Amino acid sequence: AHGEVSLAQLPALTKRSFPLCMEHLSSKLHDNSHLKHQGRIQLGLFLKGIGLSYDESLTFWRTLFLKGMAPDKFDKEYKYNIRYNYGLEGAKKNYTPYSCAKVISTVPSAAEHHGCPFRTLSGEPLRAMLSRLSLKPTDVARIAAKAAEHHYQVACGLYFEARHAGSSLTETEMGGITHPNQYFDLSMKFYA
Ligand code: SF4
Repeated sequence: AHGEVSLAQLPALTKRSFPLCMEHLSSKLHDNSHLKHQGRIQLGLFLKGIGLSYDESLTFWRTLFLKGMAPDKFDKEYKYNIRYNYGLEGAKKNYTPYSCAKVISTVPSAAEHHGCPFRTLSGEPLRAMLSRLSLKPTDVARIAAKAAEHHYQVACGLYFEARHAGSSLTETEMGGITHPNQYFDLSMKFYA
C-alpha cells in the first residue's frame, strides 16, 4: 500500500490503470449498486492495496450501495466486511490483496462478477468487453486467442500493452501479469 490514492482520483484511475478483473467488478458495482461477497473482497482488498484509506473505502462502498438500500441495512450487513478487509474486525489480520493465481482459481456463479475475466468471460463475451473498452480489433483478437488457450496472465499482459500505447513490458514477456496490484503499479509507473 502506498496510501496515496484518494477517492477523488478513483474514477479516472479505474478507467486508466485498473486491470480488467477490477475494472469489471467496479463497473458491475456502479451498474447494480451492489456486489456479492467474493466480489467485495476481491475489489476491496485491491483498493486497499492501491492505497485507498479505510475511511475513503467506507465512503466509496457506502455511497454506491445506498443507491440501492437503506443506510441502516448497509451499516448492519456490509460495513463489517469493509472493516474486516482493513483488519479492524475478526482476527484483525492485515489481509493482503489477491494474486492473479488466487483470482483465477475462483469461479463465480451467474450473479457474481469476481474472478479473472480472461477465464470467466472467454469467447464472445470477452471480445465484446474488450471492444467496448475501445481496443483495436487486432488487439482484441490477439488477447482473446491467448485467453482461449488458457494463458490468462499472458492475455492480461497483452491487454496492458494495448491499453498503454508504446509500453514494452519485459515483465509480461516473462509470462504475464502475476498480481492485479502489479498491473496497477506498472500503469502508474507508465504514466508517471
Ligand atoms: Fe486480473 Fe490477473 Fe486476470 Fe489480469 S490476469 S485480469 S490482473 S486476475
